[in-house]
Amino acid sequence: MPKVLSEHAYANAIDVTGITTDAEIFISIRDDWHGDAKEALFVRAIATNACQPFSLVLTPNSNEAHADHIHLDNGLYLGGDC
Ligand SMILES: [Zn+2]
Repeated sequence: MPKVLSEHAYANAIDVTGITTDAEIFISIRDDWHGDAKEALFVRAIATNACQPFSLVLTPNSNEAHADHIHLDNGLYLGGDC
């Protein structure tokens, strides 16, 4: 059975662990993803909007392996949390 490599192996994926705002406030995917705070709404909106330019978006909602980052790629797999 052939081994399936991550899109990272082809330089076709990025992982985002957080966003730094203009005010230099770091919003963490791991710490700020859940809940109703404005930071949570912001990072979840980023993930939702990433579904347009990327074919696969994996988030803390996907599985434990993505609890601390958003995975974005344009590989063969589609969807994820879109
Ligand atoms: Zn990744």
